[in-house]
Amino acid sequence: MNDQWTRFWRWCYRPWPLGLLVAVLSGLLLLSGAWHLGSWQARQAEQQRLGALHAEVVRRTSGLFSGLAGHLQALGQQRIEHCDENARQQLRTLRRGMLYVQAVAVRMADGQWCQSLPLPDEQSLQAYKAWQFDSVRLWWNPQQLNASSEPSLMLQSERVQVASSLRYFQDVIALPEGYQALLTDAQGQRMLDYSGLRSATTAAEQAAAHSPQPLSVAGQHVYLRGPGDKNGMRLLLVADDSRLQEATRYYQRLFSVGALLFSVLTGWLAALLIRHEQSLEKALSLALRRGELEVDYQPLVDLQTRRCVGAEALVRWRRADGQRVRPDLFIPQAEDSGQICAITQRVIELVVAEVGELLRTHPQLYVSVNLAAADIAGAAFVEPARRLLREAGVAPAQLVWEVTERGLVDVELATRLLGQLRADGHRIAIDDFGTGYSSLSYLQQLPVDVLKIDKSFVDALGTEAASSPVAPHVIEMARDLGLKVIAEGVEHERQAVLLAELGAQIGQGWLFAKPLDAQSFRAFVEQH
Ligand code: C2E
Ligand code: CA
Ligand code: CA
Repeated sequence: MNDQWTRFWRWCYRPWPLGLLVAVLSGLLLLSGAWHLGSWQARQAEQQRLGALHAEVVRRTSGLFSGLAGHLQALGQQRIEHCDENARQQLRTLRRGMLYVQAVAVRMADGQWCQSLPLPDEQSLQAYKAWQFDSVRLWWNPQQLNASSEPSLMLQSERVQVASSLRYFQDVIALPEGYQALLTDAQGQRMLDYSGLRSATTAAEQAAAHSPQPLSVAGQHVYLRGPGDKNGMRLLLVADDSRLQEATRYYQRLFSVGALLFSVLTGWLAALLIRHEQSLEKALSLALRRGELEVDYQPLVDLQTRRCVGAEALVRWRRADGQRVRPDLFIPQAEDSGQICAITQRVIELVVAEVGELLRTHPQLYVSVNLAAADIAGAAFVEPARRLLREAGVAPAQLVWEVTERGLVDVELATRLLGQLRADGHRIAIDDFGTGYSSLSYLQQLPVDVLKIDKSFVDALGTEAASSPVAPHVIEMARDLGLKVIAEGVEHERQAVLLAELGAQIGQGWLFAKPLDAQSFRAFVEQH
């Protein structure tokens, strides 16, 4: 089952199937995003468009209303004692100067109305809808719109009346086809329809009038409600939803095309990335088969005597075209693909083949080899190393294993393996010490002989950097635990002197030597 799964995953883990999968998955995700974004964008656009129309209707309506309110105020100045023909004539003359007014009336001292034209009496006003704004009462009667004899809109303040018509609203506001403008109270119950056709709101209009969002959609209509004035009156614009639907379709299509293009691009990039990674993986396995890997030896020097005590084996990849690839470019990839174990074995073979003789003739000399997390987890190198050393007659003490904190994820497993290696006679060094996360906690329980202080802490020595006390602290701690210290990346004489004073035993770095090929390393040993 596990095998089948691995095979299936291998099959999938190819550039184009995986790229296609990435494209499809990101496409689905982006398409649903595009769908929502499209309808959101269309609503935004509709809200903006209706908002502009709304503002225009409000501007025109309030012009009309304040005109009528002004006429009421002007009429309020009139005093009429007897309602005779003269007085009525005077009112008619006044009326002629008032825009949007059909008739006017003034209440006399005895409570009777004097009217320019006969107006509905209090009784017949009951048939009208009524509303109170501040001190102004408003009546309107939708049914009167086509009966020109009676006004469809009346305004009254304390002792004056003006009669007007909803037809003026229609003319002045001039709404385009398919739109309605309704003046409603906050609950959307009472309503003045500027078209004069209706006298009651629908349930959808009532909901829209106090919906939390300015724009709402219900049935086949779009509603935009205004913020409302101090009397709680708000203007509700009603439009049919065909424009919104069209805009929604347009934006959804537009964003979907974008989403599809983007997901194709993502899939393509994913495929390229995987191909690049796999081409490196393939090239590396070819390199292993063709023997393109080499090892350099960077000398380790006693800081007191400046004599060479050993070397660190550092792998190199010389490609067929002669170009040398730096380990940091292929080691991380090899760690991911699991090829690192084969590389470690190759390094051990090369070390024994190239400097086995040197180690045999200089028994105090040693070589350290880097182990990765996968080496520790698999322990595949242990048997071959044992056999190679035995065949070459090299003592296990002359091979030091370098492990980093990254390689110690499973501390229990690492402790067991390192203990076994130590029992075989090898020594263990912790590489890049101090750069990991658990530096101190595991030191007590791990079988360790050497701490390698990372170059960054050596660089910080004697500077103002926050990490400058790290190296002295590590050296002191190593002394307490009975461990040896190797300082990495020593480039300057003053660093070497300081490290020696602090108690570090061994140095590695360009001050002493850069990584050397086997032949140069042998010469270096003879000189030092
Ligand atoms: P590392 O194990 O920390 O190796 C030390 C690195 O520091 C080497 O780089 C070395 O050339 C460089 N170095 C030494 N002295 C100085 C110095 O004074 N100044 C400066 N600037 N650099 C110095 P290199 O050879 O490029 O190796 C890089 C890394 O690649 C190594 O870091 C190690 O993590 C990995 N690596 C190299 N060979 C192997 C190997 O055989 N197996 C495994 N698993 N990893 C390896
Ligand atoms: Ca190392
Ligand atoms: Ca190191």
